Amino acid sequence: MKSGSLLDIAIVGGGIVGLSTARTLAERHRGLRIAVIEKEADTAQHQTGHNSGVIHSGIYYRPGSLRARMAVQGSERMVAFCEEHAIPYDRCGKVIVATEEFQIAALEALARRGAANGVPGVRMIGPEELADLEPHATGMQALHVPSAGIVNYSLVAQTYRKLFEQAGGEVRTGAEVTAIAEEPNGLRLETAQGDVRSKHVIICSGLFADRVSISAGLKPPLKTVPFRGEYYELVPEKRHLVRNLIYPVANPAFPFLGVHFTRRISGAIEVGPNAVFAFKRQGYRWRDVSIKDTADILGYVGFWRMTARYWRTGLGEVYRSLRKQAMVKELQKLVPVVANQDLVRAGAGVRAQALDPQGKLIEDFHIVQKPRIIHVLNAPSPAATASLSIGDAVADMAGQWLPPST
Ligand SMILES: Cc1cc2nc3c(=O)[nH]c(=O)nc-3n(C[C@H](O)[C@H](O)[C@H](O)COP(=O)(O)OP(=O)(O)OC[C@H]3O[C@@H](n4cnc5c(N)ncnc54)[C@H](O)[C@@H]3O)c2cc1C
Repeated sequence: MKSGSLLDIAIVGGGIVGLSTARTLAERHRGLRIAVIEKEADTAQHQTGHNSGVIHSGIYYRPGSLRARMAVQGSERMVAFCEEHAIPYDRCGKVIVATEEFQIAALEALARRGAANGVPGVRMIGPEELADLEPHATGMQALHVPSAGIVNYSLVAQTYRKLFEQAGGEVRTGAEVTAIAEEPNGLRLETAQGDVRSKHVIICSGLFADRVSISAGLKPPLKTVPFRGEYYELVPEKRHLVRNLIYPVANPAFPFLGVHFTRRISGAIEVGPNAVFAFKRQGYRWRDVSIKDTADILGYVGFWRMTARYWRTGLGEVYRSLRKQAMVKELQKLVPVVANQDLVRAGAGVRAQALDPQGKLIEDFHIVQKPRIIHVLNAPSPAATASLSIGDAVADMAGQWLPPST
């Protein structure tokens, strides 16, 4: 493909959502000129490369929502995809543990949600069965979710990219898109490597979802807010304390799952992620601050409404982020023998979370179609699990642009 030629579809963002969409479109419509335009030097450098690596089962999400449907379908498809392409994964199952009496009702509500969403095999278990599955965990009751698993999503995204390129697609890296303008026969994307012209554009830009949308002249009804999730890791000699995945009962008012123990496909045991507001969209450390990003959020009415609603939860997260001992105390509710010296700091990821002007964190996936642009405005967790289903859904929408013969 010549770099100056008119593309049929330009996909902005080479994360797992953009790459899955690209691969599906290229395989469905051979001969179409499609390029993924990515600002970093390589693909999958942000959320896709900084997550927990869990294949979510679909138990948490509101029945009937896109997340519920796409997580349940997507997790099955993810497992089949890993089988087909020899990507290491493990459907090891997980436990969600109630450590206090009042959490049991929430656990039962989750079990009902799982049944409504068609998550297979979910079962309430008592302390004895919990001890069989996770000998070092304690709790009053737990939910066993056998269909949850683990995988390395960077490897999955790399495979989507390889298949996309094999089907004739092109990936252009180091090409940040700064503006998208209408032209008579399509759209002109201004990028760090010069202009790109395309008949259609699909925006999958994660932490910059709202900004790229605004640069295309759209008025997204949401703001993308960055929430950093920090991880610790168990030192190798303490890995035996956790077999698979141990989760707390999450606060249902907050769209994050609470700090959990996660076995990585590499064998490491990670602990996290918490959820603290990031002062930079790609701010992986407390000292990463962007005046532009911070001013942007502080000037948004929805941010203050969210703060009024969640300030107590938010302060708790900040406290546990800054004081390791506070985090350890929380973890000891699940695995009492874990001690401060068993944990070392690991990496962090930043979640892109859409927030509406009323201060509500948008839980569901949100995809908008305009005459020449499709825009993935909100793809929070479990978008990695659901990436094959999201890619299909976006490709279905894009199919409406294309003549039946392509
Ligand atoms: C800490 C954490 C833990 C998580 N755990 C899980 C989990 O266990 N299981 C799960 O299913 N999901 C999990 N998720 C969610 C999952 O990782 C994301 O939902 C998913 O990766 C979103 O993919 P994406 O392609 O939309 O975004 P990204 O991976 O962020 O990709 C967006 C891409 O767009 C590029 N981009 C941005 N702006 C521009 C521009 N102007 N021009 C060109 N390119 C641009 C970026 O560089 C980036 O490569 C987690 C997320 C985080 C942060």
